[in-house]
Amino acid sequence: MPLQPGSTIGIVGGGQLGRMLALAAARFGYRIAVLDPDSGCPASQVANTTVVGPYDDEACLKRLASLSDVVTYEFENVAVAPLRRALGETPLSPPAEALEVSQDRVVEKAFLNGIGVATADWRAIDAVEELGHALLELGGDCILKTRRFGYDGKGQARINAQTTFTDAFEAIGSAPAILEKKVPFSFEMSVVAARGRGGEIAAFDPAENVHTLGILKTSTVPGKVTQELAASAMHVAAKILTHLNYVGVIGVEFFVGRDGALLVNEIAPRVHNSGHWTEAACLVSQFEQHIRAVAGLPLASPERHFDCVMENLIGDDVGRFSGLVTEPRSLLHLYGKAETRRGRKMGHVTRITPRSSGV
Ligand code: ADP
Ligand code: MG
Repeated sequence: MPLQPGSTIGIVGGGQLGRMLALAAARFGYRIAVLDPDSGCPASQVANTTVVGPYDDEACLKRLASLSDVVTYEFENVAVAPLRRALGETPLSPPAEALEVSQDRVVEKAFLNGIGVATADWRAIDAVEELGHALLELGGDCILKTRRFGYDGKGQARINAQTTFTDAFEAIGSAPAILEKKVPFSFEMSVVAARGRGGEIAAFDPAENVHTLGILKTSTVPGKVTQELAASAMHVAAKILTHLNYVGVIGVEFFVGRDGALLVNEIAPRVHNSGHWTEAACLVSQFEQHIRAVAGLPLASPERHFDCVMENLIGDDVGRFSGLVTEPRSLLHLYGKAETRRGRKMGHVTRITPRSSGV
């Protein structure tokens, strides 16, 4: 039975992704309960109820579950054990397995390789003494990343034969890590795709992504993405969704090699920053698509009506508000964050142009 209007969707995490999910849910008459440690978080400003507390607090998770007909999440670092215990009979979408796979870079790469999806070459690193041997095996330039809790390029260090290993390991907090071969990619792209309760899959067109200092700066559709690349990437995304018995929206990040080869960088079991453009260029946004999936409604067509460029407004960029709102063919979305900080995502703007024949 699909969720009826008036039902409540619980969201673990109250950042901008939770906020945009809540706005989409409201259009179907769903109520939203959010769990976040900050009572003034972006999602709380548009939610019906906010449970204020840590994401891994079982009592808080229980309270969220008791308020909700279905629970979802807006970030992948939710502690799985207390969440599972707290849920009781309340369904969780996407499934907990998607959290387990995506919140640990070693588990994630092993899962992807295990289902035949190519990634950068990698080695698990538990102690600094293992770095020398692993670097020798992988060869050349590598990137050391914490296994868990990394985002926006945080918890990463470049590393090569000239690097002092103890410095690099300390730079990432001496935490369990993964060493990845640096991919000499031609460009980065991502697919945001959804799987419904009945197993149907709908993928939005892939975006070409540009990162600055590890943070997404722009997503361009179609950008450099050819029809052939788009088809391969969507095939990979569908494979991942099916293997995880997934329900909801997923973001799959890719490196495109100079020879056109596709490697998956990482997966995010949630709506994804590189899919924000969908609210301006598609009939249905990634946020509504996720709400549809977790509510057990049919997925909507992901067709795209415009070409577009989504630009993240990071830190002081948000000060350009007065200019941005005067642009006639752009959609501006701000997140209601009280404090502007360097490197903090404050909003985004999507500029549309007529659709080219491309993808
Ligand atoms: P995060 O969780 O912070 O998004 P990512 O693993 O996606 O972490 O890394 C952030 C960015 O750093 C990537 O989008 C890419 O630009 C760069 N990067 C990460 N891993 C590699 C790699 N193995 N080779 C080349 N660039 C990489
Ligand atoms: Mg990433």
